Amino acid sequence: MKHRTKEKVSATQGTFDVCVIGGGASGAGCALDAQLRGLKTILLDAGDFASAASSASTKLVHGGVRYLEQAIKSFNLEEYRMVKNALRERLYMLANAPHLAHQAQFLVPVYSWARAAYYLVGMKLYDAVAAESNLFPSRFLSREETLKTMPGLKAQGLRGAVSYSDGQFDDARYDLALIETFVAAGGTALNYARVTGFERGDRGMLTSATARDELSGETFSVSVKKFVNATGTGADKIRRLANPMLAARMRPSKGVHLLFSAETFAGTDALLVPHTEDGRVIFAVPWQGRLLVGTTDEEVTPATRMLVTKDEAEYLLRQLNPYLETPLRRQQTVSGMAGLRPLVAAGHGQTATSRLIRDHEVELDSSSGMVSILGGKWTTHRLMAEDTILAGAAGYDKGFSKDIEKEYSLPADVAKHLAGKFGTTALKALQLLNENPTWNRRIAAGLPVIEAEIIFCIRYEMAETIEDLLARRTGAQLHGWKEAIEAAPRVAELLAQEKRWEPGRSASAVSEYTTRIASFLNELGLNEEKK
Ligand SMILES: Cc1cc2nc3c(=O)[nH]c(=O)nc-3n(C[C@H](O)[C@H](O)[C@H](O)COP(=O)(O)OP(=O)(O)OC[C@H]3O[C@@H](n4cnc5c(N)ncnc54)[C@H](O)[C@@H]3O)c2cc1C
Repeated sequence: MKHRTKEKVSATQGTFDVCVIGGGASGAGCALDAQLRGLKTILLDAGDFASAASSASTKLVHGGVRYLEQAIKSFNLEEYRMVKNALRERLYMLANAPHLAHQAQFLVPVYSWARAAYYLVGMKLYDAVAAESNLFPSRFLSREETLKTMPGLKAQGLRGAVSYSDGQFDDARYDLALIETFVAAGGTALNYARVTGFERGDRGMLTSATARDELSGETFSVSVKKFVNATGTGADKIRRLANPMLAARMRPSKGVHLLFSAETFAGTDALLVPHTEDGRVIFAVPWQGRLLVGTTDEEVTPATRMLVTKDEAEYLLRQLNPYLETPLRRQQTVSGMAGLRPLVAAGHGQTATSRLIRDHEVELDSSSGMVSILGGKWTTHRLMAEDTILAGAAGYDKGFSKDIEKEYSLPADVAKHLAGKFGTTALKALQLLNENPTWNRRIAAGLPVIEAEIIFCIRYEMAETIEDLLARRTGAQLHGWKEAIEAAPRVAELLAQEKRWEPGRSASAVSEYTTRIASFLNELGLNEEKK
């Protein structure tokens, strides 16, 4: 997967069978499916791949226990089918990229016997819906067993916990693995390429798209037989560019997460908080050496900002803390993220976005020929794609991290990080050490990311900016805003060297990146309070 800006434009010559607009979970899954079916496919994303909802998820490969409860309580067959499909897809996601997805044990702590019975019956139903796709059976854990597994839980009044199985994954890297596999299958993928308009042929059918290279400002045209709109919350804009008569369908909802150091809540299992102020559930999930806490569900208004606000942080902690022996404080936040769910408006009477079904819908606009994929979940992205082994998965097994640690004399945390993020593709990054052995240096103290990984992502994974590298390619930004800011100058130097940036550009890139991170820190009051 390699390109340079000029190649970006020339790569678009000729007529494509399919153009997928959007490179998140839905678009990457669709593009891979189309290409594997022998269709000449191009994928265009306005920003970086996975830079929207697809890297801001709770990182669960799940059917959704809350959605099942909702389906049963409201006799909603559609929602029930969505959960069932997602539970089947869960297996494929885990199998197709074992370096990026794994099964996990989730605990629902209970403080009354009535609640224990309710959740156990619920989780047994979840097992039954999964049927042969179930990962392991749910069960009741005694108070002693629960506290041994999750010592950070509030002990007073605890009766035990209901344990059930679901999956966890690295969303940004999964998306990149889909793109990489698509490109390896002969597809063309361009990031920072925004679709701005269409041209029409006979009977108003779309025949080509105009796109703008967001880095150089150049525009180019792509001639295509069929367009697929997979732009998530941007879907209405593209639908209306294709056919201005279409009514809006999207109802985006904002969700935020906070990350804390893993020591704040010991254990390797995930916690589901079953009772919250608005009837949703909240997760506290160990994730890559951190504790990931989320999420919220807020209807988007013109005033919505893509930051984690103080109110949102306080809301999450207010729901979680009653279950913890040592409450978490906002000031302990090391990172966070905000994203928009691309929910589709349902029928009448459903007002709250938290009540909208997470299923996807495929719309064919007969006036323009545009196919739009609306809504959906990460877990169900493959429903539109063929079963395939993703980039990095071939030859991967649990001993891979130890193998590269030994072969390349790497610190254990660096080897584990490379194996977890890239699977066997890590070998390609490590081969860069032959070109320059000093690229074995970490990009910042405390981060398991080495310079060879950065060079690899610039050369072979279309990384264009500091944020592409720190937020999505390496995950350093989720590890901690502080470490990410420390790493930014070196990352900018490597970008400048590889991309031959003109003098001064790396300084402005660092300043732009640190300003963006500072806005998160300022919003949460972490700048002043940490001093
Ligand atoms: C807070 C939160 C938590 C979630 N948790 C989970 C979870 O745990 N498990 C799960 O299965 N799902 C979860 N989801 C849902 C899941 O993340 C989304 O459904 C999924 O990522 C949507 O993918 P998408 O490709 O449709 O949209 P997106 O990821 O938003 O991608 C759309 C892409 O289209 C591009 N685009 C927009 N306009 C244009 C244009 N004009 N030209 C070219 N490109 C364009 C954008 O740049 C973007 O990259 C969560 C979502 C959120 C927000």
